[in-house]
Amino acid sequence: MARDPTVSPPPNVLAPGLYLVATPIGNLRDITLRALDILGGADIVLCEDTRVGGKLMAAHGLKVKLERYDEHAAERARPKILGRLAGGEKVALISDAGTPLISDPGYRLVRAAVAQGSSVFPVPGASALLAGLTVAGLPTDRFLFVGFPPPKSVGRRALFAELAPIRATLIFYEGGSRLKDSLIDMADVFGAREAAVARELTKLHETVIRGPLPVLAADHRCDSPKGEIVILVAPGIDRAATADEVDAALVEALARGPTATAASEVAKALGLSRRDLYARALALRGE
Ligand code: SAM
Repeated sequence: MARDPTVSPPPNVLAPGLYLVATPIGNLRDITLRALDILGGADIVLCEDTRVGGKLMAAHGLKVKLERYDEHAAERARPKILGRLAGGEKVALISDAGTPLISDPGYRLVRAAVAQGSSVFPVPGASALLAGLTVAGLPTDRFLFVGFPPPKSVGRRALFAELAPIRATLIFYEGGSRLKDSLIDMADVFGAREAAVARELTKLHETVIRGPLPVLAADHRCDSPKGEIVILVAPGIDRAATADEVDAALVEALARGPTATAASEVAKALGLSRRDLYARALALRGE
């Protein structure tokens, strides 16, 4: 009977080449059957940290040869890996979590493999950015993955200002210790846009907090939480807001703070004049 080509071949008939294998972002069962076939059948599995990679292999009963390939080892290790590929070996690349190359090493290796004519195969699976996007409750039709914002406020604000006109949901990676400062800078630059903080996805303490940026920045759960985080920010609107939308945004912001702050937040989020919104906010307050 002819074999179904959409079913992965058994590991011993894998074609030679570089396999970019996605691994779980938390829950160790978030790995595909094909990923297990390929990891089990590869001549070598390159990973950022052999302890993390070893744990994953042990959890799935795989006995494989692991070798370190991280930011530091990459330059030295690359010629040897390219030699293996040129010699017809099957090389798998994984990262500590999620999809390799996504805020993780591998891009230069892929470029070099392609340049020397080696085959490169995607083995798709988990990635924190898509897991975050799917649960955020924000528009998914157009999004921009930004990765980690700069560590210092000046750099962050400059980047956010550059991103502010882009009509797409913005996706950032962030660590717990910088979450609050990043949210404060986002609220200052993006105003009261809707946003989500997705923490520890697929893990025991999975939490998704949704709301306007100033609300998230003030939420005590965003004060240096432990764990890994994706921040998602809604696009600014690309049409004139209706009078009702403006009023609704002002009423929501007025419930949280002083008139001037509310006017300023909504002005940034909707791209309107702060002076006009201040006047409208006073009217809504009955002043
Ligand atoms: N390659 C990975 C991927 O495909 O998602 C990302 C690697 S990057 C070095 C690690 C960052 O991804 C973390 O600091 C965090 O921002 C995000 N991340 C990874 N796992 C996560 C999870 N389970 N929940 C939320 N964010 C996560």
